[in-house]
Amino acid sequence: MDYQPAREDMVDAQIARRGIQDERVLEAFRTVPRHLFVPTKDRGRAYADSPLPIGKGQTISQPYIVAYMTDLLKLQGDETILEIGTGSGYQAAILGELAAEVHSIERHKKLANTAQKCLAQLGYDNVHVHLGDGTQGLPEFAPYAAVMVTAAAPIVPRPLLDQLEDNGKLIMPVGERFGQVLELWQRQGEDFNSQRLVPVAFVPLLGEHGWD
Ligand code: SAM
Repeated sequence: MDYQPAREDMVDAQIARRGIQDERVLEAFRTVPRHLFVPTKDRGRAYADSPLPIGKGQTISQPYIVAYMTDLLKLQGDETILEIGTGSGYQAAILGELAAEVHSIERHKKLANTAQKCLAQLGYDNVHVHLGDGTQGLPEFAPYAAVMVTAAAPIVPRPLLDQLEDNGKLIMPVGERFGQVLELWQRQGEDFNSQRLVPVAFVPLLGEHGWD
């Protein structure tokens, strides 16, 4: 089955029409085969305007939310990025199209393995999946130009802020267990600016600096 027309429609109707204009971002969404990151039985719904289950009670986010969070990072192509919550690996692949190196951490071994396999088969040699508690970040490859967290916590984990480079950005859902606000943080020397953006609903970030 040819999924390219569905992918083009997703980009036009769900992403570009809702205001994402960066051509590099749009091209990344035209390129990454989202249907290969969802369970085989759900491939027919891979380009729908909604999140989808990926196993272990987790989800791949709605395409527009992935695009919105990606667009906020304003990536130029030479950055090293940290993602927390690899899940299916789809967001990591999108970041891999737009940045030089992507490190992505997942706490579920099965999800990490499946994502890693899919990314390797598609040739994303610049995307590295790590198994572990992402709330602690990944100090060995820090500092990062951007940190994207795709699960929600009551507050932004301090280690993730500490691992940002100067002017680096962090995007993450912050709030209650069943409803949060997307927050954008930017490092300025030893200080941080933060903005609260839009309401969202993400699965919980579990770990030392997240939910129990
Ligand atoms: N970015 C993913 C994608 O493109 O498919 C979607 C991520 S899903 C909404 C959130 C993921 O965060 C889940 O796979 C969950 O297991 C993971 N997660 C939750 N807490 C974590 C932690 N402390 N460290 C790493 N991953 C975590």
